[in-house]
Amino acid sequence: MPAAFSDPVWRKPQTAPAFRSAFSADGTLDVVIVGGGIMGLSTALHAARAGLSVQVLDAGAIGQGASGLNGGQVIPGLKYDPDWLVGHFGKERGEALVEFAASTADTVFDVIRDEKLAVPFTRNGWIQAAHTETALKAAANRDRQWRARGADVELLDQAEISAMTGARGYLGGWLDRRAGVIDPLSYTLELARVASTAGVGIAEQQRVVGLGREAGVWRVSTQGGADLRAKSVVLATNAYTDGLLPGLAQTIVPLHSFQIATAPLPADLAASILPGGQAVSDSRRILIYYRKSADGRLVLGGRGRMALPSSAADWAHLERALVRLYPALAGIAIEKRWFGRVALTPDHLPHLHEPEKGLLAVVGCQGRGVGLMSALGRRMANYLASGDARQLPFPLSPLRPIPFHAFRQVGVAAAITWYRMLDAFER
Ligand SMILES: Cc1cc2nc3c(=O)[nH]c(=O)nc-3n(C[C@H](O)[C@H](O)[C@H](O)COP(=O)(O)OP(=O)(O)OC[C@H]3O[C@@H](n4cnc5c(N)ncnc54)[C@H](O)[C@@H]3O)c2cc1C
Repeated sequence: MPAAFSDPVWRKPQTAPAFRSAFSADGTLDVVIVGGGIMGLSTALHAARAGLSVQVLDAGAIGQGASGLNGGQVIPGLKYDPDWLVGHFGKERGEALVEFAASTADTVFDVIRDEKLAVPFTRNGWIQAAHTETALKAAANRDRQWRARGADVELLDQAEISAMTGARGYLGGWLDRRAGVIDPLSYTLELARVASTAGVGIAEQQRVVGLGREAGVWRVSTQGGADLRAKSVVLATNAYTDGLLPGLAQTIVPLHSFQIATAPLPADLAASILPGGQAVSDSRRILIYYRKSADGRLVLGGRGRMALPSSAADWAHLERALVRLYPALAGIAIEKRWFGRVALTPDHLPHLHEPEKGLLAVVGCQGRGVGLMSALGRRMANYLASGDARQLPFPLSPLRPIPFHAFRQVGVAAAITWYRMLDAFER
């Protein structure tokens, strides 16, 4: 596929070091981490800070997975509201999970501050925009539950949301001031830089192809013929999970999320579109999300086709959504188009597995992994350092491959087409 068909708007920070495919680890490491995205790097950084020896191996380059490609919206919470989590997990674990979910955006902004990461960011909130009465009711319910727990959130009426977004078609919405936006490629590369400074080995172009256990120690082998030993292994491969651990890829449905970025907006338009710099997700079944970038472009994303894109036409549905929201952008050039993979689980929750002692896997970001994987990585590091499973916000669960997994993506694709039609009727 021509490079022009996956050309992200995000740029490497000037501080980005050149990682190599070589590593000097010998002896037995405390941890080998497979996957150098936000999950792997956050785990690595916090584990190194806790005194563990860590090596990260990525099949590609750091930032080439979802972590360097995403929308950079740093949103706290899970797909479920606090009352549901308490009902589902019971009072004690449920409340702990609500507290964890509330803290995920803090983890990102705290790390940026504490580790002095060179990451462009704005922390002015996230708007969940409602285009139907049903969505407004759900927003009011969410607002009530988070407000009862002291969160800095607010319901928006039609005039307020119109002033904050400059977009057409919303009845109201919900503002979560805990959220913000970052440049995700800078964040990922900066996490790698400080992890490396903290002593983590980071190697690119090292696909892990073999895992085995010998005399109580894990052996990790790569396609290039390298062989490492470690007390623990963490698989942080999310939507890019391959066949390394049999059955793991069958526990998720990987979907493509596509994005476009306009040319930098002229001053008059920039002043009327998201003047406060918030991130937005709308309430449609096939949701659209958008924000402004640090260099003044509008960046908008949504689900894309599952086959690899072959021409700019594969992003046309996003260009139509952009002009529906902002008719004044009709003549503005779309300068960037790109896509990446998100991982869904059937219960819409992230899954943590430890199929054998010291072999851990985390999958299922549900498209909200910037905050979630940053915070889960910190908890995973605590678990690795202490061996105390109470450090993990979600229970460790057995691998449960989705029945008829091979057909699942076809089913999801059909469902997306159907939901797009329903969304179109509600316009
Ligand atoms: C287009 C798009 C937009 C998104 N927007 C947002 C957003 O605005 N906000 C938000 O919170 N979330 C968003 N997400 C989700 C978010 O990007 C992910 O949840 C998050 O980046 C997952 O991080 P990760 O480290 O778990 O996985 P990844 O960053 O995908 O990293 C996994 C890594 O594993 C490596 N790997 C796989 N197999 C092997 C192997 N055998 N050996 C070695 N390495 C291997 C891959 O090369 C890859 O680098 C978006 C995702 C996409 C794709």
